[in-house]
This record gives sequence, structure tokens and C-alpha cells, in this order.
Amino acid sequence: MKKFIKIFLWTVLTFVVLLFAAGSLLVYKIKNGFPVSYETQAPTINFPAGQTSVLLFSKSTGYRHATSIDAGKRVFDSLAKKNNWFVYSTEEGGVFNKEQLAKFNVVVFNNSTGRVLNDEQEQALEHYVEQGGRLIGIHGAGDDSHHWDWYEHNLLGSKFSHHPIAAHLQKTAVVLNEVPDSAISSGLAKTWESTDEWYVFFENPRAKGFHVLFNIDGSAINPSGNIFFVKDKNFGMGKDHPVAWYKNIGKGSTFYTSMGHDETIWGHEPFNKMIENAVNWKLALP
Ligand SMILES: [Zn+2]
Repeated sequence: MKKFIKIFLWTVLTFVVLLFAAGSLLVYKIKNGFPVSYETQAPTINFPAGQTSVLLFSKSTGYRHATSIDAGKRVFDSLAKKNNWFVYSTEEGGVFNKEQLAKFNVVVFNNSTGRVLNDEQEQALEHYVEQGGRLIGIHGAGDDSHHWDWYEHNLLGSKFSHHPIAAHLQKTAVVLNEVPDSAISSGLAKTWESTDEWYVFFENPRAKGFHVLFNIDGSAINPSGNIFFVKDKNFGMGKDHPVAWYKNIGKGSTFYTSMGHDETIWGHEPFNKMIENAVNWKLALP
């Protein structure tokens, strides 16, 4: 009997230690980014003449929005046919070098999460945008898993806090704002209903000089992210809750939308039109 109790206690102790180790590792990974491998081999790309070049990047080392990523790829394929775009779709970071980035009109982070580029590749993208390139981020591209200050300041203008928990997905009206650039807002629906995971940021990017293209009424959703051990996730962004915004950065620009958690968003014509506009925006300019 004594032996049985001893075995039982050792089993419980081992289980507790393993649980603690797993929990610590998870907290470490969330805080510091998941350890990843970086692809450094530049791919061979044949850029067709006379087409707008779009780099569609869907690598994720944090949460993977699998169905939305795939739906996004399909929509980019059909928009490419309509608009004469050349879309180079990849999940590898080797293309993030100064020479190849310079050949793209637009780089899109399609729900890309986590640390996806090494330091040199991140610097290549910063240089690309500041020298006239354009960066578009969709949904997960704005969460707090990227651990990259330049990216946070220049694409998001704010820091991700959390997403609502109750309910996780909520239906509400998306409302078009007046912006200085008619090329990015032309043909967009004034308002439409969408069900999404409405990301909450610590600050309103409007206060940081970003132009807000679409917002929702923050008082019309429950922004609470409170869970059992994590409280006070209610601060939200207030009534004016931006969900798509943009800014000129150096000679280039960035555009971000927090919409796009699941694939249903890619069935919304107003959303697809917004993405189409964001890619085509400024193409006619010298
Ligand atoms: Zn999501």
C-alpha cells in the first residue's frame, strides 16, 4: 500500500512539473515569438512586363487563419485576372531581399502571424516601403505576435490588445469614413454588415496620423476579452473603432485592415473591393 502511495505521489508530482514546464514554454513563446526557421534562399521569379506585381505573403508562425488565408489566395487570383496583376504567392521569406522587393508594386501580409522574417529581411522590407513600396496587412498581420517595432509603428500605429471573447465573432455595421485619397475610397460601399473577430488595439490609429477608411461603432459590440485568469480586457478603442486605415510612410505607404478572421469575409464584395482599391491605389502616380 505504501508503495502504491509513493508511485501515485511521484506520478502526480511529475504531472505537475510537466504541466508547469509546458505552461512556462507557452507564455515564453507568446511573449517572445515562436522560434522559427527563416528561408534565406532568393527564389527565381520571372516578372512579366507591364503587369502590377503583388507579393502575397502568407507565412504564419503564430496563429494560423488557415481557411481565411486560402480564401484570400483565391480572391487575389480572381482580382489578378480582372486587374492584370502578377501575383507571386509564397510562404517563404527568401524573397524579402532589396533586389527582388524593388520589383513589386505591393507586398501583402495575408494573415501572416508571428516572427516570419529575420533581421535582414525585416530591414529590406522597411527600406522597400520607405523608398516608395507599399505594404498591406490583413487581420492577423496586426496581432501582437510579430515583435517588430518598425512594423507596429508604421503599419498599425498602435499595439494589439486582444480580441473579444464573448462573443468571439460579432455582427455589426462597417461604415465608410471620408478620406483625402479618393482613389482608395472610390466605389466602396458606404456601409455593410459583417461578422468578424473585431481586434481591439490600445490606441486609436487616427490619433497617430493614420487615415481611417472604415470603422465600426465600438459601443455596438462587446469588446471584452476577459477570460478566467486574465481580467480588465475591456478597455477597447471606444465608440470610434477603426477597422481599416492607411498612412504615407517615407516615399511609400501602408494599409491595414483588422477584418478577415475567417473565410466568410472574402465572400463580401465591399471587403474585396477595398482590397482591390488598396492594391491599385497610387499605381497611376509617378
Ligand atoms: Zn483571427
